[in-house]
Order: sequence, then structure tokens, then C-alpha cells
Amino acid sequence: MDKSISDLRADFPILDQRVNDEPLVYLDNAATAQRPTPVLKQVLDFYQTDNANVHRGVHTLAERATADYEAARDRVQKFIHAKKREEVIFTKGCTDSLNLVAATYGEQNIQAGDEIVISIMEHHSNLIPWQQLALKKGATLKYIGLTKEGELDLADAAAKITDRTKIVAVTHASNVMGTVTPLKQLAKLAHQHGAIIVGDGAQAVPHMKVDVTELDVDFYAFSGHKMMSPTGIGVLYGKQALLEAIPPYQYGGEMIGTVTEQASTWAALPYKFEAGTQNIAGAVGLGAAIDYLTAIGMDQVEAHERVLVQTVLPQLLAIEGLTVYGPTDPAKHTGVISFNLGHLHPHDLATALDMEGVAVRAGHHCAQPLMNYLGLEASARASFYLYNTAADAEKLVSALKEAKEFFRIGTI
Ligand code: PMP
Repeated sequence: MDKSISDLRADFPILDQRVNDEPLVYLDNAATAQRPTPVLKQVLDFYQTDNANVHRGVHTLAERATADYEAARDRVQKFIHAKKREEVIFTKGCTDSLNLVAATYGEQNIQAGDEIVISIMEHHSNLIPWQQLALKKGATLKYIGLTKEGELDLADAAAKITDRTKIVAVTHASNVMGTVTPLKQLAKLAHQHGAIIVGDGAQAVPHMKVDVTELDVDFYAFSGHKMMSPTGIGVLYGKQALLEAIPPYQYGGEMIGTVTEQASTWAALPYKFEAGTQNIAGAVGLGAAIDYLTAIGMDQVEAHERVLVQTVLPQLLAIEGLTVYGPTDPAKHTGVISFNLGHLHPHDLATALDMEGVAVRAGHHCAQPLMNYLGLEASARASFYLYNTAADAEKLVSALKEAKEFFRIGTI
């Protein structure tokens, strides 16, 4: 990275602390990332100088707040390579974006006997909205399986996606195994059968270059908080023609054209989908996070995480009694690595690592069907981001080895 890692870490004062008398090693980035000072400052500046409600007032602060909010939309458009700013809808987050698509496009287009195809590695956010839609409409929900390596099985996708398929909804990167899916090929497959494709970019947009136009996805969802923005802000990208054809998600202020006693018309895109007062400061923060990531370069961010995975993954695989789920080839990995140590419950393992200052997640990672598929109840998960260092990676390995000794894994 151009910006040296120590310069970069100076932007994250939260990382400079001790936890349980050990230097904090924050490896729970797949759950939420930390926010750098420039993002926090921009949010504070917004509240201190420009705060007003957007689109409504003609006074100067309202105009400034509107300009800030819309500038954030322009940044998102450029960042994900959407053709038009109208295709960028601000939401509460990835979950909200996916629910929006299920409740609008799904409600309008799914009928009894139709098929919705997702993958077995979906986060509940990209699973339950489709499951409930299928139940409500009498449609069938089908799952694309995995290869032995934990990658999406394209041959199975080709078998599961048929002319009855109306929606294919697949994650771009797994929040459990760090697998990247062939979203572009899936989009092609879906389109060949007349279906639309919805991409869940929660674990992709923060970590790699994403071009929604090139991927040819119809909808694409992600959250700001996993890419160093405030919580409560996210994005739904949708192709303009589709966004125009579907009904609004919520009704109220801001999203209307005209309202009479018995009928209403809707505002133009993107406002048709932004009912009520939005998370304006959140959008401003997301814009600042995009500036921060862009200044570093997404290729650099991805390369940095890959180097960390190249360091840590072979070392983890070499620990006897430790099982890694998902690809063992670092080249096929994002910075997300899930594992278990012997029969130790992952919560106990995460607690032991926390005693060493290492923050990892343990549980089902909101992916219970995947856990069942893998024959697991839960796993521990370490996830890296641009501010993690080689020393962080080494500390994870040494803390795991200590936990192995402490719990006598493999020795009894
Ligand atoms: N999809 C994936 C792959 C995720 O990892 C997450 C967050 N863990 C979500 C969707 C949901 O994101 P949010 O909770 O920010 O709405």
C-alpha cells in the first residue's frame, strides 16, 4: 500500500489499546470494521456545520446537507461502477436492501410454482427473505451446493437454475469461508433462463474492486459499516429499468410525486425508495469511507489482505487438530478464515483468544444452513482488513497454539 501500514494505523486510534493486558488484535472485521479518523471527522463536520434535513428546505444549510448527501451517492456510483446515480438507493444496510428486493420485485414477480435459487453459503439476510417469499407464494427455494474445497459448485448451479427460476440470489463473498463466488457467470446463467440475479456484496465491496455493470447483476446489496462507515447506512444498487418497474418498499414523506386523498404517485428514482428522513450523516460517512478506500486503492486493499492470508493460512493448516473450513489455497480466499480447534467449543476458543487480546467471532455466523451442510454447529472466524499487520497474523497463530496447549487439544 502507498500509505504505509503505520500511517494507516494511526488513523484508527481504537486499535491502539490493550485488551486483557495485551495489545488489541482486531480480527472481527467481517462483523464490522473500525472507522478511521477522516470518516469520523467528516461525520462530525457534517453535524457541526451542515446539518439539516435534505431535499426539503430552500435555506442554505438544507442545500448544503442535500449536496453532501447527493455527493455521497455520486461516490457510491463511481465506486461500484453503476451506470447512473439513480441506480444507487441508500438503505439501512445490506439486510434492508435484500428485504427491499424480496418485498418489491419478489412480491410483484414470484408466483406459485416458480423457483428461487440461492446458495447454501448464504448469510441469513440473503436467505430468509427468499425463504419467506417462497413460502408465501408457493414457490420453491433451491440451493446451489459447494465443491469439496468450499467453493460454489458451478455445475450444480447450471443444474439448479432452470426456466422456472425467476430469481437467483447469491453472495459475492462468503462471510464464513472467505470464498469468492463466480457472480458474473451466475448472472449469465440466470439471464439465459430469463431470471434476475441479486448479489450480496456485504463481504465483497469492502475488500475488492466491484463493478456491478461488468458483473451484469440486476440488484446488488452491501452495508457501510463493514467498510468503515457508520452503522445504519447501506446501499441497494438496481438496474434502472427494474427499479422503475417495481413498487415502492415503504410509503411516506420524500418518496411521493403527488398525494391526493385517495391516491398517490411516486417520486423519480432514487427517491421512490427513500421514504422518510434518511441516515444523512451515515451517507456522508460512507462517502468519506469510499474516499479513504479509493485513496489507498482497492487493488492494494485486496493485495494486502491476500498477503496476510498467505502468511496465516498455511500456518493454521499446519496446527494439528485445527480444521479450516473453505479453500486452503490463499489465492481463493478473502481475508475471512473459519476454523475449529479439536472439539473445543468455538466460544471457549474465542474467549481464550480474547485473553490474548485477539478478537475473533464464534458462532454460526448467521449461516445455519451452511453450518448444517458442513456438519458443524459453530466455528471460530478470524477476518482481516486493511489495517491488520503481519504481527496481527502471527499473534493469531501463536494465541491458537497457546490455546491448543492450554486445552490439551490432540494430547488427550
Ligand atoms: N450478507 C453477508 C454475507 C454478511 O456477512 C452480512 C453481515 N454479517 C450481511 C449480509 C448482513 O449485513 P447487515 O447486518 O449489515 O445488514
